[in-house]
Amino acid sequence: MAAILIDGKKYAEEIRAEVAQKVKEWVANGNAAPGLATVLVGDDPASHTYVKSKHKACQQVGILSFSHELPANTPQEKLEALIRQLNDDQRVNGILVQLPLPNGLDEESTLNTVSIDKDVDGIHPVNIGRLAQKGREPRFVPCTPAGVIYLLEKTLPSLEGKHAVVLGRSNIVGMPVALLLLRANATITICHSHTVDLPAVVLTGDIVVAAIGRPEMVRGDWVKPGAVVIDVGINHVEDQSIEKGFRLVGDVAFNEVKEVAYAITPVPGGVGPMTIAMLLRSTLQAAERNN
Ligand code: NDP
Repeated sequence: MAAILIDGKKYAEEIRAEVAQKVKEWVANGNAAPGLATVLVGDDPASHTYVKSKHKACQQVGILSFSHELPANTPQEKLEALIRQLNDDQRVNGILVQLPLPNGLDEESTLNTVSIDKDVDGIHPVNIGRLAQKGREPRFVPCTPAGVIYLLEKTLPSLEGKHAVVLGRSNIVGMPVALLLLRANATITICHSHTVDLPAVVLTGDIVVAAIGRPEMVRGDWVKPGAVVIDVGINHVEDQSIEKGFRLVGDVAFNEVKEVAYAITPVPGGVGPMTIAMLLRSTLQAAERNN
C-alpha cells in the first residue's frame, strides 16, 4: 500500500497565512512591522537564490527585510561590525547570516557575534548549546529541523518512545534534528559516513530522517514497514529529458520507500517549503519578544 504523502507545501502555506494574519494584527495594534536582516557574503549562486526567496516570503507576509551583500574578500572585522550594527538596529528583529561563508571567514566567530535574541535561524552556539542541555531553553531553534519536527508532529499522535534514526550530523540539520527529537522523548540513533551497515541501522527506525546529501541513497528495503520517513535532502541530478537539464531528488528513493513506509515527504514539496515558513514564524516571535 502506498504511503501517506506528507504535504510540506500545504503546511508551509498554512503557517505563512497564520504569520501574515498575526503581522497584520501586530501592526494594527500600533507596533512596527517585524524586520529580518539577511547577510550574504560572496557570490554563491545557490545562496543568492535562497536569500532572494526569503526576502520575497517576508514581503508576502508583511515582514520588512533588509538585504546586506558583501564581497567574498570581506575581512572578518568588517562582517562582524555589520552584524553588531544590526544587533543595535531597532528595526531588525531577526538576523540571518547565510551559510556557508566563503573560505577565510570564521563561521563560529561570526555566528557568536549575532545577538542570541535576534538569532532567528537558531544556530548561535549558545542557542545550540541550550538545545543540547536538559532544562535549558534556546531562544530559537534552527528552521529546517523545526520544520522536520512540525511535519512529524502533524503525522504521528506522539513522538514519545519512538526510535528515530537520523542520517547526518551536520550543525544545521542532522544534529539539531536529533536534539529536537530527543526533547520530544524519542530514542535517537545518529548515523554518519562512518556508520557500519547503514541499511541495517535504518531498518530499526520507527522514524527515519535523511539529511546526507546523497541522491536516493535510502532504498525501499532499508525501511521498516510502517515507518515515517522525512527526506531533507535536496540533490540536483542530471536529466537531459527535461528542459532545465536536471531534476531535484531527495536522499530517499521515493518510489521504493513509499511502498513500505506509513508516511513520507516528497522532494520537492516536503521539508523544503517548511524552512522559510519557520523563519517567518521565528521573526514574528522575535518582534513580539523584543516589544
Ligand atoms: P552536510 O554535507 O553538512 O552533512 C551531511 C551529513 O551526512 C554528514 O554528517 C555526513 O557524515 C553524512 N553522510 C554523508 N554521506 C554519507 C553516507 N554515505 N552515509 C552516511 N552518512 C553520510 O549536509 P547538510 O546537513 O547541510 O545537508 C544535508 C542535505 O539536506 C543536503 O542534501 C542539503 O541540500 C539538504 N538541506 C535541505 C534543506 C531544506 O531546506 N530542505 C536545508 C539544509 C540542507 P560525516 O559527518 O561523517 O561527514
